[in-house]
Amino acid sequence: MLSTVVGSLPAENHKPSNFKDKFLNAFGKYDPFRDAIRQAVFCQLDAGVDIISDGQTRGDMISAFSKYVPGMKIEKGNTYIVSKIKKPVSEISVNDLLFAKKLIREYYSGNVPENKNVKGIVTGPSTIVHSSRITSFYKNKDDAIIDLARSLKYEIDAIDKKVKPTYIQIDEPFLSTGMVNMKVAREAVDILHEDLNVPLAMHVCGTIDGAYRELSKFNVEIFDFEFAGNNVNLDVLRDNINLFKNKKIGFGCIDSSKNDMDSYESAENLVSQGIDIIGKENILLDPDCGLRRAPKKIAYEKLKLMNDIKNKY
Ligand SMILES: [Zn+2]
Repeated sequence: MLSTVVGSLPAENHKPSNFKDKFLNAFGKYDPFRDAIRQAVFCQLDAGVDIISDGQTRGDMISAFSKYVPGMKIEKGNTYIVSKIKKPVSEISVNDLLFAKKLIREYYSGNVPENKNVKGIVTGPSTIVHSSRITSFYKNKDDAIIDLARSLKYEIDAIDKKVKPTYIQIDEPFLSTGMVNMKVAREAVDILHEDLNVPLAMHVCGTIDGAYRELSKFNVEIFDFEFAGNNVNLDVLRDNINLFKNKKIGFGCIDSSKNDMDSYESAENLVSQGIDIIGKENILLDPDCGLRRAPKKIAYEKLKLMNDIKNKY
């Protein structure tokens, strides 16, 4: 059984403090997020996480992508779709993921255990478009979603080829809301999935009892759902396991909506029920969702508790 995170971790960007950083800053070359990535990576490795993220420290899950996409514009923190969506102006997360990989090698002094690697994370086209406002060009969200999938496909392919992650995760929190055209969302994921060398995962937040049937049709190898802060999803999975056979499940076993520590007993009980339903070999343990809002120490403790449970099985 392996462990991972959904993605985000607490982040603070650092002002340049030493001479080298001040020098870089003077030439506009200082990256205030580099230290946050380092801390996020080491926090995950210290806690025993196998498949790590870069911490998604550069900002919210919408603008972190939309700011690179021609046709989208950010104003006062909101994203607007103002013209035809095209190929991103540059790679978006590749450099951070390569940096995270370098940090993993550094952490293990070059002898990286087989299971330790990064994963790529891209916010899904349906979620980005539904979080944006269309002001011109597109008559409906669905056409914008398909064009955005084609645009984000460049990022997905760059992660696949240059980073060689364990897998790539699409974050589509909106798919459980009932607001999204699931047929179009699926077509968008099909575009992202085409010719990938690594498995594709899809993280969906919230309760899936209204959406599981549609979700199960998506062409992904891994579904990632929350089971800790949610008392419906486990029954949905148990009762409909036939729909999810041959899939792996990212099994949210830590409540990321609270900053209180989870109880070891209840988290372990949840994991053991998950194992009974889908089998140890099909589970990736992770927290329900991102841990951005947790204090650093709590984020670490939560990940540590999850890995203590992993090590028992
Ligand atoms: Zn989530």
